Amino acid sequence: MSAPLDASKLVIHKTTTPKEKLPNDKLVFGKTFTDHMLEIEWTAQAGWGTPTISPYHKLSLDPSTVVLHYAFELFEGMKAYRDTDNNIRTFRGDKNMDRMNKSADRIALPTFDGEELMKLIDQFLLVDESFVPQGAGYSLYLRPTMIGTTESLGVGTPDKALLYVIASPVGPYYGTGFKPVSLEATDYAVRAWPGGVGNRKLGANYAPCVRPQLEAAKRGYQQNLWLFGEEGYITEVGTMNAFFVFKNADGTKELATAPLDGTILEGVTRDSILELTRERLPKNEWVVSERKFTIGEVEERAAKGELIEAFGAGTAAVVSPIKSIGWKGKEIEVPLAAGDSGELTAQVAEWIRKIQYGEEQYKNWSRV
Ligand code: PMP
Repeated sequence: MSAPLDASKLVIHKTTTPKEKLPNDKLVFGKTFTDHMLEIEWTAQAGWGTPTISPYHKLSLDPSTVVLHYAFELFEGMKAYRDTDNNIRTFRGDKNMDRMNKSADRIALPTFDGEELMKLIDQFLLVDESFVPQGAGYSLYLRPTMIGTTESLGVGTPDKALLYVIASPVGPYYGTGFKPVSLEATDYAVRAWPGGVGNRKLGANYAPCVRPQLEAAKRGYQQNLWLFGEEGYITEVGTMNAFFVFKNADGTKELATAPLDGTILEGVTRDSILELTRERLPKNEWVVSERKFTIGEVEERAAKGELIEAFGAGTAAVVSPIKSIGWKGKEIEVPLAAGDSGELTAQVAEWIRKIQYGEEQYKNWSRV
């Protein structure tokens, strides 16, 4: 019988050569890593093996390994935060575990009990606790990853896999305040399509987005606003979910984001924003909708003064205000009523920050 993932079998080998820690102001996203890593091997025959925390090391793979040829790779992005009582907290990790299992299932890699991996991540965080930086906006970025490790050029179901977690201390996405971004609405390249895998966090979704980003950068834009179809439906922005705020003729306001129709990554931040705004914004003034809307609608409503804010949402920045969108040679300007962002943008960022850093308890979203 193949063994389930079992956190109680964890084996820990601690490093004898601890790394020097960088001061907070020298932290660069994803460039330096903690002393250890968590690994669990899987085989079709035996199932999940012994979880191990050992000194951070290079992987050794045969050149024929399937991950290197057919992109049997998926990953997650989540963060651990240090609260003012020095507790280490993770934010909605259960959502990342669910998404990771959906990604694994989509590319025929093994699934696992998400709570067991969360328990292992807890242990990993205890071992590398000293790497979780202190301070507002600082955190330890966690990168759970799974790769197919079968050594074969045949395209087929991997019979071996490796699940590992590495961690990188990171600073605030914005040094001080927000830095609103300019977008290029992109229709010549498509990030995801119906029936595709854009709703799964597969490595294969990311490499093809870099060339269009370089093209946008050449024209002075920081990110792509990914459109889909002849209608120009707004899907996502860079590697974030996209939110737009419109004002209606009757004075009510709408927070709109694209629905989960298979072309949108099921962002944890997106889900959190939808839940908090549905609960906290006054119902007589606000509508929160998951609906399809097009770049044409955004352009038209901006011209009428009905576009009031826009932002991207994701784990890295929580929210990233949008200041303008280049579309068909014209610029759609987005107001920044609160200075460097819209008012709702700043509000949701603060709601989420408080929960992440344990200043506010909200359901079971923050795990010590
Ligand atoms: N869309 C894409 C394509 C992403 O890569 C990410 C980052 N994981 C997101 C949206 C935001 O997801 P989350 O809020 O879970 O970080």
